[in-house]
Amino acid sequence: MNQTATVSEQFDAVIVGAGFSGLYMLHRLRQLGLSVKVFDAAGDVGGTWYWNRYPGARCDIPTTDYAYSFDPELEKEWTWSEKYATQPEILDYLRFVADRHRLRSDIEFSTTVTSARWDEQAKRWRIATDRGKEVWCRYYIMASGCLSIPKSADIEGAGRFTGQVYFTSQWPHEGADFTGQRVAIIGTGSSGIQCIPLIARQASQLTVFQRTPNFSIPARNGPAPADRLMQLSEDRAAYRHAARWSRGGIPVEPTDVLGVTASEAVRRERFEAAWEQGELFAILGVFADQGVNPASNDIVAEMIRERIRSAVEDAATAEALCPKDHYFGTKRPCLDTGYFETYNLPHVRLVDLRTQPITSISEQGIDTADESFGFDAIVYATGFDAMTGALAAVDVAGRGGLSLAEKWAPGPSTYLGLMTAGFPNLFMITGPGSPSVLSNMTVSIEQHVDWVAGCVKDMREAGFETIEPTALAESAWGEHVRDCAAITLHPTASSWYMGANVPGKPRVFLPYIGGVNAYRQACDDVVSQGYLGFRRTGRGRDQCRDGVIRSMQPDVAMVLEVMAGLGLPPMETLSAADARALMAATTATRPPAPEVGEVTDGVMPGPEEDLPYRLYRPAAPAGPHPIVVYFHGGGWVLGDLDSDDPLCRDLCARTGAVVVSVNYRHAPEARFPAAAQDAFKAVQWVDANAVSLGGIPGQLAVAGWSAGGNIAAVACQMARDAGGPRIAGQLLICPVVDSEMTRPSYAENGDGYILTTALMRWFWDHYADPADRGDPRAAPLRGSPDDLPPACIVTAECDPLRDEGVAYARALEAAGATVRHIRARGHTHTSVTMVGVIISGAPVRAQIAQALADFFPAPIAAPVTGALSHSSIG
Ligand code: NAP
Repeated sequence: MNQTATVSEQFDAVIVGAGFSGLYMLHRLRQLGLSVKVFDAAGDVGGTWYWNRYPGARCDIPTTDYAYSFDPELEKEWTWSEKYATQPEILDYLRFVADRHRLRSDIEFSTTVTSARWDEQAKRWRIATDRGKEVWCRYYIMASGCLSIPKSADIEGAGRFTGQVYFTSQWPHEGADFTGQRVAIIGTGSSGIQCIPLIARQASQLTVFQRTPNFSIPARNGPAPADRLMQLSEDRAAYRHAARWSRGGIPVEPTDVLGVTASEAVRRERFEAAWEQGELFAILGVFADQGVNPASNDIVAEMIRERIRSAVEDAATAEALCPKDHYFGTKRPCLDTGYFETYNLPHVRLVDLRTQPITSISEQGIDTADESFGFDAIVYATGFDAMTGALAAVDVAGRGGLSLAEKWAPGPSTYLGLMTAGFPNLFMITGPGSPSVLSNMTVSIEQHVDWVAGCVKDMREAGFETIEPTALAESAWGEHVRDCAAITLHPTASSWYMGANVPGKPRVFLPYIGGVNAYRQACDDVVSQGYLGFRRTGRGRDQCRDGVIRSMQPDVAMVLEVMAGLGLPPMETLSAADARALMAATTATRPPAPEVGEVTDGVMPGPEEDLPYRLYRPAAPAGPHPIVVYFHGGGWVLGDLDSDDPLCRDLCARTGAVVVSVNYRHAPEARFPAAAQDAFKAVQWVDANAVSLGGIPGQLAVAGWSAGGNIAAVACQMARDAGGPRIAGQLLICPVVDSEMTRPSYAENGDGYILTTALMRWFWDHYADPADRGDPRAAPLRGSPDDLPPACIVTAECDPLRDEGVAYARALEAAGATVRHIRARGHTHTSVTMVGVIISGAPVRAQIAQALADFFPAPIAAPVTGALSHSSIG
C-alpha cells in the first residue's frame, strides 16, 4: 500500500508513456469512449524523442515511413523536411499530433508510475505515482518504450569525474557547447556514431572510447526519397498497407539472390546499390541468406570493412574500426554522416578498449591500462536496458501478488509480446516477443495499439472484465520466438537484443524476428480463433481458448509455403515414373551438401540382382570406422542414391562413421517383400565385407528414413530371427512401421505437410497387397519387439507417421531394448532430412548423430563443423 497516496481516481485505462505508442493508444481508447489517464516522467510528449536530444540525433528509418498512418488528414498536413528527420523535427511532429487530437488534457507530465498492483476483488489495477497519487483502472498499458531506461555509467570511478558529464539519452534541453573543450565519448552504437561527427566540430580534442566496433553505412541524408513520396501521393493507403504486411514495416521487395551462389559481379552490384541507397533494410537485404548463412553474411561484412578501410586514412585506426567479432546485422547496424571520416581529423582519436581497457574514471579524466587522459567533458553513449528495462522499472504485482520482476528473472515471457500470464489486463506495446526494435517501430506500434484497442472493444461488447494469456500459449509463443531466432545468426552476438549489454541480464533473444507480416498474421489469427491462447472472464463467464498459435519451425513453414506456391501436382495423381522424374527434378535444385572424405559408388550382390550402393568415408578420424548401412526414403517407390545423398553426407560428417547407402529394388516393379529382402541381404553383405569397406568388424548399425526406416527396422527383425549379423543399433527416422492409417497423427497431419494420407495410401498400394500389409516384414510394429538392437527413433510433430513411430519406440522399450526417442518439434516428415535447406533440422540431426555414435563402443568423433551449424563464430 502506498502510504503517501492522497488522491484516488478511477479510469478505464492508465497508459504509461506519451511517446509514439502512448499518444496513439490514448487516441484509440478515447475513440472507444474509455476514460484514460496517461503518465509520463517527461515534461512533454515525445517519449524517446523528448529525451535523446544529443547533437546529430535523427531517426534512421526514412521519415516518410517513420510516421503515423492512422490519420490520413494528418499525413496531408505534415511534410517532413528530410529523408531522416532530426530529433527536434520529430518532436515537433509528435507535439503537432498531440495538439491536433487534443491529447494533452489526459496526460500528466513529470510523473513517474512507481507501482501497479492487481486487485483480484475489484478486477482492477491500482497504480501509484512518484507524486503520491493513486489511481485505479481496468486496463494498465505499458507504452513505455523499448529503449527508454539508460544504462548507468557502469565503469569504475564514474562518480569521481569533476568535469561535465552527459548522457546522450538524457541530454540537457539547453544543449551543450563543447567549443574548445577536451571531450571523451564512451560508446559507438547508433547514438555515439550520430553525435561523434558533430561534437568533433566543436571540441578542441575528441577521444572516442570504443569497446566494440560497429557496422555503419552512410545515411545519405537529403530530401525525402522521391520514389516513396510518389508512391504515397499516388496511393497512400496501398503504400501503408504494403508496409503493414512487409517483413520489416517498410515496403521492400525481398530478394531471392543468395550470397553464397551469386557471382562476384552480382554481389558487388547488389551491395553497391544498397550502399548508395543508405537505408538499413537495403543493406540488411543485399542477399536473402545473409541473416542465416555465415558465408553470405561475411561477403557483405567484408565489403563494408573495405569501405571503412578506404574512408579512414590511418591504417591502424581503420582496422580498429572494422567490426570482426559479430556477424553483420546481429548487432543493430548504424547509419551515419561522416562518422568514419571524422577519425581523419587531427584532433580526433580512437582508443580501442579491446587493447587498452579503461581501468577507472578519475577526477580529471579517464585512465586506461596504458595512459591517463584529461578531459573537460565525458559523454556516455552507452545504451539502454533494452526492451525489459522500462517494464521492470515499475514495481508490478499481478494475480496473487506475483511480481513481474521475479517472473521475468530468467528472461521475459510473454504471449505475442502483448501480455504475460498472471497479469490480467496488463498490455505491453511492442513488448519482448514482438517485432518491435527489429522493425519500423511506428508500424509495429500502430499494430499493437490497434490490437489492444480491438481486444478491449471485443471484451466490453462481450461483457468480459479480464483477459490473460494461458501458460501453454505463452510458453509455446516463447518457443516460437526462440525457434525463429535460432535459425538466424542473431543469437551468436553479444548484443542488446540478447540482453548482453547489461551485466547480469539473462541472455535471451528479446524481439520476434519472424517478421512484421508473419507476426501480424499470428495476432490476427489469435483473434479470429476466438482469442486463442487467452482466458477471458466477466459477469459469471469464464472462457478459456487454450491452445498454440504457431508451433511449426519457421523455416519449415516457409518451405511449405514455397512448395504450395509452386502448384506441383500431388504425387499420388502421377504414375510412378512421373513421380520419380518430379523427385529427381527437385533433387537437382538442392544446395551443396556437406563435404566428406571420400564418396565411392559400387554394387553388391542382392537376392535377385546386384544392388547399387554409395559409400561415404569420413575425412577424419583415420579408419577403420564403424559402418552404418543406410536405406533411403520414398515410400518403396521413389528415391535412390542421389535423393538421400545430403543426409548420408551429413550423417557421415557428423558421426565419423562410414555410411553405405543401398539402393534397394523399388515398387511397383518389385513389390513386397523385395525391398525388405534386399535390405537384409545388404546388411549381411556389408557385415561380411566390413574390413574391405574400411569398417570395424562387428561395429555395424542400420539406418533409414521413412520407407527406408521401415526396411531398416525389418532388417533388424530378420537378423534377429536368422541369428545374425549382429547389429549394434538401428536409427529409424520417421519410419513407416505399420500399415494402419487411423492413428491421431494421420487425422492431424494427413494433409498439407508433403507426406499426406493420400500419398501414403498410394505408396502402400504400389508396395504391398492388402493381405500382406499385416506381415511384420511390411509392418514391423506387428512383429515381435523382443531381442532387438538398441534403437534411436525420430518422430516429427507434424508427420502422419508420428504416432506409429511413437508406438514402435514404446514397444521396443517395453520389450527391454534401449531406446532413444527424439521428438522433432515443429517438423514434418521430410524436414529433418532437408540438409542445407531447413536450418532448424541441424540441431535435430546433431542429436541423431550423437545417438548413432553412441551405438558403437569406442567414442567416435562427432564433429559439428561450421559447415553443419552456425552456432559459433570463429
Ligand atoms: P548501444 O547501441 O547499446 O551502444 C552503446 C555503446 O556503448 C556500445 O558501443 C557499447 O559497447 C558501449 N558501451 C556500453 N557500456 C560500456 C562500457 N561500460 N564501457 C565501454 N563501452 C560501453 O546504445 P545506443 O547507441 O544508444 O543505441 C541503442 C539503440 O537505440 C540503437 O541500437 C537503436 O536501435 C536506437 N537508436 C536509434 C537511433 C536512430 O534512430 N537513429 C539513434 C540512437 C539510438 P558494446 O557494443 O561493446 O556493448
